[in-house]
Amino acid sequence: MLGLMQDWPLTVDKILDHAKAWHGGREIVSRSAEGPIVRTTYAEAHVRAKRLSNALKGMGVGVGDRVATLAWNTARHLETWYGIMGIGAVCHTLNPRLFAEQLCYIINHAEDKVLFTDLTFLPILAQHRDQLPSVKHWVVMTDREGMKGVDFPGALCFEDLIEQNSADCVWGGFDENTAAGLCYTSGTTGNPKGVLYSHRSNFLHTLVTMGVDVLAISAKDVVLPVVPMFHANAWGIAFSAPAAGAKLVMPGQKLDGASVHELLESEGVTFSAAVPTVWQMLLAHLRETNGKLTTLKRVVIGGSAVPEAIVRGFRDEFGVEVTHAWGMTETSPLGTQSTPNAAIAAMPPEEQLRYRLKQGRPPVTVELKLVDDENKRLPHDGTTFGKLKVKGPFVVREYFRGDGGEILDPEGFFDTGDVSTIDEHGFMQITDRAKDVIKSGGEWISSIEIENLAAGHPKAILAAVIGVAHPKWDERPLLLVKLKDGESATKQEFLDYLEGKIAKWWMPDDVVFVDEIPLGATGKIDKKVIRQKFEDYVLP
Ligand code: ADP
Repeated sequence: MLGLMQDWPLTVDKILDHAKAWHGGREIVSRSAEGPIVRTTYAEAHVRAKRLSNALKGMGVGVGDRVATLAWNTARHLETWYGIMGIGAVCHTLNPRLFAEQLCYIINHAEDKVLFTDLTFLPILAQHRDQLPSVKHWVVMTDREGMKGVDFPGALCFEDLIEQNSADCVWGGFDENTAAGLCYTSGTTGNPKGVLYSHRSNFLHTLVTMGVDVLAISAKDVVLPVVPMFHANAWGIAFSAPAAGAKLVMPGQKLDGASVHELLESEGVTFSAAVPTVWQMLLAHLRETNGKLTTLKRVVIGGSAVPEAIVRGFRDEFGVEVTHAWGMTETSPLGTQSTPNAAIAAMPPEEQLRYRLKQGRPPVTVELKLVDDENKRLPHDGTTFGKLKVKGPFVVREYFRGDGGEILDPEGFFDTGDVSTIDEHGFMQITDRAKDVIKSGGEWISSIEIENLAAGHPKAILAAVIGVAHPKWDERPLLLVKLKDGESATKQEFLDYLEGKIAKWWMPDDVVFVDEIPLGATGKIDKKVIRQKFEDYVLP
């Protein structure tokens, strides 16, 4: 017997409909790509997104067509998302930090019909446009004034499209499993692969992540997603903030400590989300300038492991609560978060910290398992580590165009490529990415654990650990350290700092001080580049 409740397809256009109807006056504040701060509301964004939908229809875009965006977080980008998704087209977010060849590869692979771009990226697009035959229309996300300096034949002006088209457009009306978004993994191995989100998967991700033990976004919040919309959908905030009716503050292109701090204070931000490097820059800026955080209450940090020093810095110097989240493009992205459960919340703060530094526990709808190489489940004892696998309604089933073939195991779980433990409280902790684990004498050493500890050294700004070939042990850890400006240090200082914090046989065989630690397209330490550079390194 079937239930007798209404069929109400979970399509994301309904999220902006809701924001307009019930939070229409709530602001969206953006640092525009052109520079100035621009203010709009959910009601205005709704009208403009509908006008854009009509513009897209006029270009021949329909259900299933891919439309790309190469843009920072701004209200225009948000309007573009909803304008595309509302008519059943697929919004393909492009990460501008990818190399040009990778960008061309994914635009061609996706066969994007229309490309929306911020002014910033026109020069690179101009260089490569003849390699992008599928793109029939180029829309520059600016006004007529901004178009004045544009030298890109045929480029359309975003504000002209808004002006020229009516807002009379019906959204939705298609199956909730219709594709809504496309995001390629950054391709640390092989070509990037496309993750094709559906309306339903985005909608469920929104509902789950709004929960109080996840992002806990409320109508009272002022939310600043520093994490870009092109990095795993800004962790869903472009959906969850309007769904909640929160004020949305969009940082545009300026993600340095001073610019982020200015917006946090001027707009009264209560909640923000970003990768660790952004917070490192903010904390450094606050300390240098004796800055304060007068409204910020909570930050979520994810994308790579959060160093202890960041959690302590926020907590002890600024009274801001950090929760740690784990996820991937393939999981929409949020998979776990380190929000304490009752038992952990009852612990003294220092003991809680041990758990807050883990990647945390899954919300309902996310299934996790820990398995060995034979796919046998491993115990949740906090010490046994194995492959982390995940399953759920917003986890990838297959990559776009079937790339990579069959990606689920017989139980329907997706292999995350992460190695982790799960403890008795259900808190998952990533010990490494499978390909970064250092294999020394048949045992595994976690590169992440060592680099996070090393990054906590008062003189360090960033640290990375890789395995380097060793004649006897196979591989041994090498620690690279980028020191804070003006600091100097000896290798021994760092080894002494690690002493007692890690097992003796985990001690790096050498420490190298470097000017730069390369970061990949999503702001993470790029181990592939480091490994190439230190391929022939001879340990002492
Ligand atoms: P990529 O960086 O390959 O483009 P994603 O941005 O989707 O892909 O990153 C997913 C990966 O990032 C995860 O599989 C995991 O290795 C790493 N990651 C994400 N969050 C965390 C975290 N909180 N701690 C450690 N690693 C993380």
